[in-house]
Amino acid sequence: MEAMTAEERSRELAANLAEVGRRITRACADAGRDPGDVTLVVVTKTWPVSDVRLLAELGVREVGENRDQEARGKVDDCVGLDLVWHFVGRLQTNKAGSVARYADVVHSVDRTRLVTALDRAAQQHGRSVTCLVQVDLDQVPEPGRGGVEEAGVPAMADAVAAARGLCLGGVMAVAPRDGDPREAFDRLARIAELVRRDHPDATLVSAGMSGDLEEAVACGATHLRVGTAVLGSRPPLG
Ligand SMILES: *Cc1c(COP(=O)(O)O)cnc(C)c1O
Repeated sequence: MEAMTAEERSRELAANLAEVGRRITRACADAGRDPGDVTLVVVTKTWPVSDVRLLAELGVREVGENRDQEARGKVDDCVGLDLVWHFVGRLQTNKAGSVARYADVVHSVDRTRLVTALDRAAQQHGRSVTCLVQVDLDQVPEPGRGGVEEAGVPAMADAVAAARGLCLGGVMAVAPRDGDPREAFDRLARIAELVRRDHPDATLVSAGMSGDLEEAVACGATHLRVGTAVLGSRPPLG
């Protein structure tokens, strides 16, 4: 690929953002939902911090990352841009302390040890970190994908809600690799409703990526995590 100037890249990102915006608007219209109730989180993982800056110039406020080391560097480079940082990937317990320092929302809480570690660090830094319980929607559990099985969600939600440094935001899921995303996100919507019975303020539902954001909007997602459709196909990990 020929090197692109910042101006060309910015135009490309703007066009992709506009197209994703049209998809969200259309999906909301089909579902009878207000587009204002759907937040786009642009997942910038593997892309350079220069892209994050261009996105910020284009009005993006919510960005997502999935590796602590990469995220930390970008957060440091973007001080003053007034961005909301979402951590969307599998989180190792030994990275929780670092992530709790800069993440505003952690989408991938699926273990009580992680709750404990995030809580301790959040309190140390005088922060409140919003946490989503990641639900495993795979019929056959796949190692490495993360998430709590449905039966374990209420206890995990209670653990987050009881942590003084954390705020229970709601639930998150990734659609199973094969299978109907609509069915999976419907299940997530029912689980989200159950969580809200005990925790009425836990209204966030993080679901939907580049390939299935329409299904997620149809099922009530409040947060879409979109990478490829905005930034392009991911460059190989460096
Ligand atoms: C990378 C990633 C996304 C974005 O996926 P795209 O298909 O590139 O839109 C969303 N959620 C999680 C958890 C991710 O790791």
